[in-house]
Amino acid sequence: MNKIAKLPETVINQIAAGEVVENSASIVKELIENCLDAGAKRINVSIQMGGQHLIEVEDDGCGMGPEDARLSLERHATSKIRSADDLFDLATLGFRGEALAAIASVSHLDLKTSDGHVGTHIAVSGGAVTAVSPLARNRGTTISVRSLFFNTPARKKFQKSVSANTAQVRRVVEAAALANPEVAFSLKSEKEIILQTHPEEKKKRVEALLGSFAHEINKGSIWGLLSAPIEAKSHRRAQYLFINRRPVYSPLIAKAVQAGYGTRLAEGQYPPFVLFLEIDPKEVDVNVHPQKREIRFSDESMLFQLVESAVASSFEAPASFGNKLFFDPPSFRMEETLPSFLPPPVAEAPSWILPLEIPVRPLAVWDRYLLIEKEGLFLVDLRRASARLLFESLHSKNEEKQSLLSPIVIDRIEDETFDSLIKIGIDCRWIGPKRIAVDAIPSQIEPFRFLDFFSAWNEEKSVERAASRFCYSNKRRYTLDEANHVWNALQNCADRLYDPMGHLIMKELQVRDFEKWLDRE
Ligand code: ADP
Ligand code: MG
Repeated sequence: MNKIAKLPETVINQIAAGEVVENSASIVKELIENCLDAGAKRINVSIQMGGQHLIEVEDDGCGMGPEDARLSLERHATSKIRSADDLFDLATLGFRGEALAAIASVSHLDLKTSDGHVGTHIAVSGGAVTAVSPLARNRGTTISVRSLFFNTPARKKFQKSVSANTAQVRRVVEAAALANPEVAFSLKSEKEIILQTHPEEKKKRVEALLGSFAHEINKGSIWGLLSAPIEAKSHRRAQYLFINRRPVYSPLIAKAVQAGYGTRLAEGQYPPFVLFLEIDPKEVDVNVHPQKREIRFSDESMLFQLVESAVASSFEAPASFGNKLFFDPPSFRMEETLPSFLPPPVAEAPSWILPLEIPVRPLAVWDRYLLIEKEGLFLVDLRRASARLLFESLHSKNEEKQSLLSPIVIDRIEDETFDSLIKIGIDCRWIGPKRIAVDAIPSQIEPFRFLDFFSAWNEEKSVERAASRFCYSNKRRYTLDEANHVWNALQNCADRLYDPMGHLIMKELQVRDFEKWLDRE
């Protein structure tokens, strides 16, 4: 007797289904993709028991005639590609022709569809067609999936809880809604609507679903919204990436975004963002993951740089809170009433005196804040601003140093520490075993506080953390002169909005906030 037998088609489909349809969320994703490919303007999703009992997806797209309806349930039947070459110029979300066959093989599926002329109803159970009948309905398609995994008990056992499945389905619908603002979506769980959108402009759609963001990227093929660094999370779940409107997971791009935030983020912090990239389909390969979740690019390093620099430059624009600009690129002018603020006379106007349109007046120092008037009142956190200054000076090669009148001697220094000090621009030399003399230090560090800086550096081993820790721990009051000096110097920093740990350096004082505060008293 032969040992080898060809598997029946239904079994082949069930095995393939393992790849494509893992759970309710992956089914909803496939069904929504089909609706979008069919040009739907309205997509209604409904689930019961997290999808275990029922998943129903209804659309008003192009629908199918009777023959196509029958074919759509067969494996490798697709209207979207005709040859492998088409894969490199894909305009649709689907292309393998496996999803419907796979879903039908592990459930009781009802397909109700009409191309606007003829309506068709096909019922399938575990992959076998059980009934075909004509049907009256408007153009569009409804697919109902009942008793998911009824015939694959092992898979059924591995399903998560109802609430976990519901949350995952929600995330899938949310992602589709983010990427397709011109389409109205709704999601019902049991009888309750848990998500609903109307056709709208893309930024409005993102804000309707995820709230507002501080920064925007708008650079041709890259559009996105980024949170302020301080809103970063310890997980990546609030990061949404779309390539040619396809929700994808790309460690490469996630890293590029992270790099664009640069020193504004502490380690292990992931900023919420929504990023849309439009890339020539020829440059991306979407056929690398069974659920089309991952993607490969032909020129990864170029893409990395593109995203990194787009993210980085979005911080040059003012951060926005709601619709209000709260800080525009600073322009600075000394008021004549405050002569002590004038910089020492120089032959040429120093570069930080920018066009003199908006008067900026430092008004007072209050504890560690500088109150500044500039089309409104702003509080500048001087410690955070100093941390930004120190951080940038430690990174810069040609930063001015101050020579110390008498060298500072430090003991118990290892080679590694010595090298690291040299690297951040501290002039020191060996004067004995494990003993060094420090001759010159960055001008941002007051000589009498150098040992504090040294211990912060020694413990933190990271420039951003050491600079921040050192500056946060400064208990000394700033004079108005000093505060003003910090403000001036800040205008030359690459980043004027955030300190190296991603905290906001300044904020506008609003009458509204003050009133709220008073009301509470
Ligand atoms: P793919 O999307 O990869 O082509 P599917 O198995 O998901 O494969 O779908 C098979 C075919 O069924 C599609 O190519 C499409 O022609 C048709 N189809 C599926 N869903 C819909 C729908 N909602 N509206 C119109 N046609 C659909
Ligand atoms: Mg499909």
